[in-house]
Amino acid sequence: MNEQELKVIFEEKFGQGGDIRTYFAPGRVNLIGEHTDYNGGHVFPCALTIGTYAVARKREDRVIKLYSANIEHVGVIESSLDDLTNKDAYHWANYPLGVVWAMIEKGSEIKSGFEMCVWGNIPNGSGLSSSASLEVLTGTVITDLFGIDKTMTELALIGQYSENNFNGCNCGIMDQFAVAMGKKDHAIFLDCADLSYKYASVKLDGAKIVITNSKVKHSLVDSAYNDRRNESSQALADLQTVCGISTLGELTDEEFEKYGSAIKDEVNYRRAKHAVAENQRTIKAVDALNKNDIETFGKLMNASHVSLRDDYEVSCEEVDFLVETEWSVPGVIGARITGGGFGGCTVAIVKDEAVENFKETVGKAYKEKYDLDAEFYVVDIGDGARRLS
Ligand code: ADP
Ligand code: MG
Repeated sequence: MNEQELKVIFEEKFGQGGDIRTYFAPGRVNLIGEHTDYNGGHVFPCALTIGTYAVARKREDRVIKLYSANIEHVGVIESSLDDLTNKDAYHWANYPLGVVWAMIEKGSEIKSGFEMCVWGNIPNGSGLSSSASLEVLTGTVITDLFGIDKTMTELALIGQYSENNFNGCNCGIMDQFAVAMGKKDHAIFLDCADLSYKYASVKLDGAKIVITNSKVKHSLVDSAYNDRRNESSQALADLQTVCGISTLGELTDEEFEKYGSAIKDEVNYRRAKHAVAENQRTIKAVDALNKNDIETFGKLMNASHVSLRDDYEVSCEEVDFLVETEWSVPGVIGARITGGGFGGCTVAIVKDEAVENFKETVGKAYKEKYDLDAEFYVVDIGDGARRLS
C-alpha cells in the first residue's frame, strides 16, 4: 500500500471530489533514555521513514468519519464534534477522536466535521509508537484542514494530553515529540524537564539501526507503566526530604549515591537508580555519538538494557532472550529493549556486513526457543509529521 492506494480506499468509502489531502506521521525508535521522560530526564529518539499515512477532507456538517485500512473489520467509525467521549465501540478511533477533543479543550475552533482514512506500516503495540504517530498525524490533519495555527511542539503536547486524558495512558512527552519534530538522519536529544532539544547527526559509518519485533506484548503494559510512574514519584518524594530537587533527572550518579539512602522502599530505590543512571547514560551516549565514538554508544545501550531489566523491571523473558542473543552476534555494536517494555521491540546497532547474519542467527534462536517469528526492520531516520499533498 502507498498513499495513492489509500486515496482510492478513501474515495471508495467517502466518495470522490472536493479538496482531498494526504499526510504522513512517522513512528519512532528511542536509541537510549528509556523511562526518563516522565522523570524529568533526557531521551534520544529518532523518527523513522515508516509510519502512518492519512487521506482527509473537510465536511459541511459536524460529523467525523474515520476508517483504518489496518483494522478493516471495524469499518467506518462515525462520531460528531458534539459528542466527543471515549467509547469502546470506537475502538482505535478513540485516538484521533481524543486529539479532536484535546484541540477543542485547548481552545481551537474546529469549524466542521471531516473524514479521514489512515493506514500505517509500523507494527501496532510494539513500542515504535504507532499511537503517537496516529495522534500527531490527526493533529497535523486538523490544523491543516481548518487553518489552525499550532507549532509542532504544541501538536506533540496535544497528542500527549489526549493520550493521558482521553485514552487513559499516562505517557510522557517523548513519543509525540519525536513524531512531531523528527529530522532526517538526526536523533533528537530532548531534555524532558523543559522541552529544550538539540538535533544530533546519526552518521553510523558502516552500521545500521536494526529493530527486532519480539511479537509479544504482555497485558500488564499500561498498568505497569502507571505503577512505574508512581514508584518513581514516591522515590522522588523521599529524596526531596534530603535534597532540593524537583525531578529525578536533576541528580548526578554521585548525588544519587549520597542521597539515595533516603528512599525507604527497596523497589522504589531501584526505580530511581535506573531513572538517574539512565539519564546520565543518555547524556554520555550523545556526547560519544557527537565524537563519532559508536563503540561507547553501543556499550551504553547495553548498560541501558541491563538497568531496564534488573532495576526498572520493564523487560520480559522473550525480549531479554532476544537482546542477550543479539549481544553474542559478531558485528553488534549495542542492543537494548526499546519503548515502554513488557514485550515489543529491541533496537540494535549492527555493522553493515553483519546484518544478514544478525537476522538469521537471532531469528533462528528465537524461533527455536519460543516458536515465534521475530520480525526485523533495518530502518532509516526520517522527518517528522507533515502534509504530503
Ligand atoms: P505503540 O504506540 O507502541 O504502537 P500502543 O498500544 O500505544 O502501542 O498503540 C497501539 C494502538 O494505536 C493500536 O492498538 C490502535 O488502536 C492504534 N493505532 C496505531 N496505528 C493505527 C492504525 N494505522 N490504524 C488504526 N489504529 C492504529
Ligand atoms: Mg503508544
